[in-house]
Amino acid sequence: MNYRINNLHRPIDSKPEAYEAEIEKITGLKAGDYTWRRHRESVDARKGRTMRFTAAVDIITDKKVRKNKQILPVKEAPYDLSPIETTERPVVVGAGPAGLFCAWVLAKRGMAPILLERGDAVEDRVKKVEAFWETGELDPESNVQFGEGGAGTFSDGKLTSRSKDPRGRTVLELFSRLAEDESILYKKKPHVGTDALRKVLVLLRKELEHMGAEIHFRTALKSMAKDKEGYLLTTNKGDFRAKYVVLALGHSARDSFFMLHEKGVAMEQKPFAVGFRIEEPQAAINESQYGDMCRFLPAADYSLTAKVEEKGVYTFCMCPGGKVVAAASEEGGVVTNGMSYKARDGENANAAVLVTVDHTTYGEGVLAGVEFQRKIEQKVFAMTKSYKAPIESASSYLYGEETAAVTPTYKPGTFFADLHTIYPEELDRALTAGLKDMGRRFPALIEKAILTAPETRSSSPVRITRDSASLESISHENLYPAGEGAGYAGGIVSSAIDGMRVAEKIIEKEKNHVRN
Ligand code: FAD
Repeated sequence: MNYRINNLHRPIDSKPEAYEAEIEKITGLKAGDYTWRRHRESVDARKGRTMRFTAAVDIITDKKVRKNKQILPVKEAPYDLSPIETTERPVVVGAGPAGLFCAWVLAKRGMAPILLERGDAVEDRVKKVEAFWETGELDPESNVQFGEGGAGTFSDGKLTSRSKDPRGRTVLELFSRLAEDESILYKKKPHVGTDALRKVLVLLRKELEHMGAEIHFRTALKSMAKDKEGYLLTTNKGDFRAKYVVLALGHSARDSFFMLHEKGVAMEQKPFAVGFRIEEPQAAINESQYGDMCRFLPAADYSLTAKVEEKGVYTFCMCPGGKVVAAASEEGGVVTNGMSYKARDGENANAAVLVTVDHTTYGEGVLAGVEFQRKIEQKVFAMTKSYKAPIESASSYLYGEETAAVTPTYKPGTFFADLHTIYPEELDRALTAGLKDMGRRFPALIEKAILTAPETRSSSPVRITRDSASLESISHENLYPAGEGAGYAGGIVSSAIDGMRVAEKIIEKEKNHVRN
C-alpha cells in the first residue's frame, strides 16, 4: 500500500533521514518495513517560530500502519497514455513547453506529430545566443525567445505553477526523470536552471524522435490556408499538410500574429505588463529572508506586490543568483529578462518589476499591444543604436540620490540613463510608487539595486481565441491555439499543461472520427 504522511518536520541543519524517526513513531513501522520519499517539502520561515523544513512524505509498505489523522492512502490515477489507431499526423508549430508537451502526448498516444520550429536545435541555439550577448549580433530566428525549448530555455527554469491541474505532476515527472533530479518532484518551488534545461531538451528530442515524431528546425510558419483536405501550411522550407494544426507560438511570434490576423483567425487583445529588471545583492536577500539560517539554505527568493492606486505593480520571475539577459527577438529593439543556472550561485539576484498595461494606454485594435511593446523596445535601441540597455540605480530613480549599487550583469553592455523617460507617464508614476512601496516593506529589494530597461515580454499581448470546451479556434475548425502565445498560459509548467490538454482534445476528436 502507498500512504502519504502529512505535516512532518525536521531542523534546517538536519539530513532528510531525520524524517524516519517521525515516520516510525506515527505509523508504528520499523526500519526495513517500508520505503519512503518526499512528496512535498518547504521551509517554514514564519515569523516567531524556529525555522524548519516541513514535509509530506509517501511511504510504500506491505505491513499494517496505525490509524492516524496525518496518514492518508495515496490513490493517484496514472495519466492516460493509451495509444489510438490512426494515420493522422498533426502539425505542431513551435517547440516551446506547449508544443513539446503537446507533441509528447500525441506521440505517446500514436499520433506521431510533425513539429515545426523556426529556431535552431538547442545546441546551435546556445551558440547563437551567447554570440549575441558577446557581440550584439542578433539572429532574429534563433535567440532567447525562439528555438528549441522556447522562451524559457534561457531562464531560471522555475517549475512552479498556480494551476492545480493534475497534469502538472506528469510535467514535473518528465523534467525530474530527464534532469535526473528528484527534488523537482518534492520542492515547493522546484527549479532546473538553464544549464539543466538545455540537457533535458536534447533528451526530450531524442525521446520524441524515437516515438516517431518528426522535428524540423529553422522552419517557420509563414502562411496558412484551409481547404477540404485540411490545412496547407507554407514555411520557408516548403509546404506541410495536416488535418489538425496546433499553434504553440509563444508570446513573441509577432509576424505570425499579424499573419493569422490577416487570415481571419479570431484573436483579441489582452492586458499584459511592462517594466524593468531590478538587480540587487543575493546575500542581502538571503539575510533578509532567512537571517542567520541563510548559511544552511539555498539562495532565497521573493515575490512582492505593491499597493498602488489604479494599476497593479508587482515583482515577477525572480531569478536567485542569476543574470539579467538580453532577450530581443526582433532587430532594432532592446528587451531584458532574467535567467539562472541550476546552482543559483551568482552574486546578484534579479526580478522583473512590472506594471499592468491595457488598451487605456495602448489603444484599441487587436495588435495594438504588440505595437506598444515594439515602440518601447525600438525607442531604447535608438538611444545607442545597439542592444545595450539603459540602467539607473533604484535610489536615483526613486529619490534622485546616487548610492553604491551592484554591477549590472546584462550583456552586451549598459549605459546610464534617466529611466523615467522609457514609459508613458501613467505607467512610470505607477512603477515609481510601486517600487517605493515594496522598498519600504522589503528594503533589501532597493538598497544597492540597479534597474535595467525595458522588460516588455513578460506575457502575451494577444489571445488567439478558442472554444473553452473543444479548445479549437472559434473561427477555424481543427486549429488549436496553445500555450502562452495563445493567451491561455503563463510560465513553463502551465504552458506544458495547456499543450497536453490540446493533445487530448485532438486525440478525442480523432477517436470519435475513426469510430464514426
Ligand atoms: P514559447 O516557449 O515562447 O515557445 C514558442 C515557440 O514557437 C518558440 O520556440 C518559437 O521559436 C516558436 N515559433 C514562433 N513562431 C513560429 C513560427 N511562425 N513557426 C515556427 N515556430 C515558431 N517561465 C517559468 O515558468 N519559469 C521561468 O523561470 C521562466 N523564466 C523565463 C525567462 C526568460 C528569459 C523568458 C523569455 C521567459 C521565461 N519564462 C519562465 C516564461 C516561459 O518561458 C514561457 O511562459 C513559456 O516558454 C511559454 O511556453 P510556450 O510553449 O507557450 O511558448
